[in-house]
Amino acid sequence: MPNNAGAEVSPEIDLVIIGDGPAGLALGAHASLLGMSVVVVGPGAPWAATYGVWVDEIANDPIIGVRLDHVLASLSDRMLVWGHRRHELGRRYAVLHNAHLREVLTQPIIAAGGQHLKAGVTAVIPKLSHSVVSTTEGEMTARSVCDASGVQRWRPGAPAARRLASVTAWQTAYGVTVDALPFDAAVSVDQATLMDFRAPVGEAGSDLGLPTFCYVIPTGEGWLVEETVLASRVPVDPVALRNRLIARLGPSGADIVREAEQAGRTEKVRIAMGGSVMRHGELPIPFGAAAGMIHPATGYSVTGSIRAAPRLARALATGRDPWDAVAPRSARITRRLHQYGADVLLSMSQSQIAEFFDVFFDLPAARWQAYLRTDSTPTELMAAMAGVFKAATPQTRRALMTADPRSLRLR
Ligand SMILES: Cc1cc2nc3c(=O)[nH]c(=O)nc-3n(C[C@H](O)[C@H](O)[C@H](O)COP(=O)(O)OP(=O)(O)OC[C@H]3O[C@@H](n4cnc5c(N)ncnc54)[C@H](O)[C@@H]3O)c2cc1C
Repeated sequence: MPNNAGAEVSPEIDLVIIGDGPAGLALGAHASLLGMSVVVVGPGAPWAATYGVWVDEIANDPIIGVRLDHVLASLSDRMLVWGHRRHELGRRYAVLHNAHLREVLTQPIIAAGGQHLKAGVTAVIPKLSHSVVSTTEGEMTARSVCDASGVQRWRPGAPAARRLASVTAWQTAYGVTVDALPFDAAVSVDQATLMDFRAPVGEAGSDLGLPTFCYVIPTGEGWLVEETVLASRVPVDPVALRNRLIARLGPSGADIVREAEQAGRTEKVRIAMGGSVMRHGELPIPFGAAAGMIHPATGYSVTGSIRAAPRLARALATGRDPWDAVAPRSARITRRLHQYGADVLLSMSQSQIAEFFDVFFDLPAARWQAYLRTDSTPTELMAAMAGVFKAATPQTRRALMTADPRSLRLR
């Protein structure tokens, strides 16, 4: 049978997936559900990041949806946003229970006779061909090979190195987990907050010269309070946000941060945003962050990958165009519009960004929700962008028009 590279192969394995992150396992689970034999190659290490998701974006997934409570480590019925004004978003937001989600996604692969390879097995990249994967445990031949190895881990010369070189912005954060939120916090660090753009009292850390916000979320193990640079052109050292986080936490901030550090309850975040979208025909077939599926303006990709997994699995199972399943023409246009939005944010000051999000979250919920998804249609996105433009002050309108229109070109 010809594989995706057009070569004649007679493999026992339908699909090898390189990478056992959320994208790789979601794809493996959905392909298994369709009867494919799947091998996921990955180190089998626990996922360390705190993954936040909008619950409605995954609630209808046929694998995750039926075990939704099990895969959520914490659930917030509403989220706060502070620009210059307070916005209460009546939309459920959750932190994923990483171990449970891994288990839920691995089960269908095992049940279908797949050989999800565990700890310590990695693809040896230089020997990777379109249908043969060299691993630390020998070679495998498969009808299709997908690359879900994330954005940053491949060595120079491999496809992801090119992707990394095309990254347009970096999201950075430094966070601590605390048992209870401090009552004496400088600003209201008192409930689940997607973004608080108000400057902490004392303005410590403002020498960073970049807009930052505070993200506050229950994780199931306490509260994660994270000071975040939404997007910067060059990567920031997460530790540069420590002073601002201390100021954010109020008079006892320094003690809170020190104690969390001593207990190892910290999170450093560095997300490569933007980056080139996979090319049509690229082999192995990229998926997830490796395919450039990270939202250029928010840094999120987990739900986008989970939502795309059934589409790619169906295409692979039925011999349809797998690249088109992941990034059809409309998704590529959506991507350009998101990229333009991301470039606008990069040019804004703290005050302008606060005003921008005031206007953004004043939009009807369906509009801003569509903008935050990676798989919205261009029409939905343009409606959101037009809504922001219409309601913005003249000064913000000017900022909205300063982004380089060349960012509308596909990367
Ligand atoms: C700290 C942090 C917090 C984040 N928070 C969020 C969030 O709240 N919400 C959200 O939507 N997104 C978030 N992101 C962004 C993004 O969604 C994540 O990076 C996400 O993990 C991407 O998923 P993925 O499966 O595509 O890639 P990855 O999670 O990077 O998984 C790739 C896997 O491939 C493996 N691998 C790499 N090379 C090889 C090889 N040669 N052979 C075999 N395996 C290999 C890796 O070990 C890894 O297990 C966050 C990112 C970071 C870094």
